[in-house]
Amino acid sequence: MRIDVVSIFPEYLAPLELSLIGKARQDGLLDLRVHDLREFTTDRHRTVDDTPYGGGAGMVMKPEPWAQALTAVAAGRSEDAGAPGASGSAGKPVLIVPSPAGERFTQATAHELAEEDQLVFACGRYEGIDERVLEWAADHFTVRPMSLGDYVLNGGEVAVLAMVEAIGRLLPGVVGNPESLVEESHSDGLLEYPVYTKPSSWRDRDVPAVLLSGNHGKIAQWRRHEQYRRTAERRPDLLVEFDAGKLPRADGAAFADLGYDVVDGHLVRRPDA
Ligand code: SAM
Repeated sequence: MRIDVVSIFPEYLAPLELSLIGKARQDGLLDLRVHDLREFTTDRHRTVDDTPYGGGAGMVMKPEPWAQALTAVAAGRSEDAGAPGASGSAGKPVLIVPSPAGERFTQATAHELAEEDQLVFACGRYEGIDERVLEWAADHFTVRPMSLGDYVLNGGEVAVLAMVEAIGRLLPGVVGNPESLVEESHSDGLLEYPVYTKPSSWRDRDVPAVLLSGNHGKIAQWRRHEQYRRTAERRPDLLVEFDAGKLPRADGAAFADLGYDVVDGHLVRRPDA
């Protein structure tokens, strides 16, 4: 996969040289390039922002440096790949514009984007990027404004670090044991069960006995029930979307204990629970 990141703070992306993503880059599994937006300005002060039309606080990122940068990134890719616009999404690279006003980035989005050939990230700063850039870019990219969550960061870089890590670890060969990607929080619509390691007794706290039993059926059942308990406790909103039709029949009782009934394949919280 090819990833291009455009930012006025390229140094902010340095952590992408570390750990599994850094290794994936070294191993040639991920071709990640960071570009300085200011390289695409033409004035002496390398200006990337100006005051907002209509007034108000803050500054807005000017359109022309973005158009220049994104054009160069798209052209660079075509030359490298030997074919113009080579990418999975209708032949266009995907342009991800981090924004608190974007669609929510989830594990499902990470899986979807991990199938693409090229992703381009446009890191906004200040009050964001002039809206016309997104309209113009739609001719060259599949444009996806994307939010990390319902809070406001100072810039898109931190969001890009999170998204690139979430997507990059799904690429074949990046995580040593692909099994570990299967049983994770959000992979099946539930949170992961609690995990433990040695010693089996630590500061008067014992690992749940079932995990030491060697009974794989019982361990699997305990883990599923812990997933239900934890999700009901911490993220009941996830259970609204959960496809209860996938549950082993006997597990309906575990949900009944947590105050949920299975109705037409969906979990419904009992009013008295
Ligand atoms: N005025 C914008 C608004 O209210 O929607 C917020 C601008 S924010 C201060 C500056 C930049 O940080 C945004 O352009 C975006 O790149 C990034 N950003 C802030 N919060 C984000 C979030 N929750 N998810 C992704 N990017 C975010």
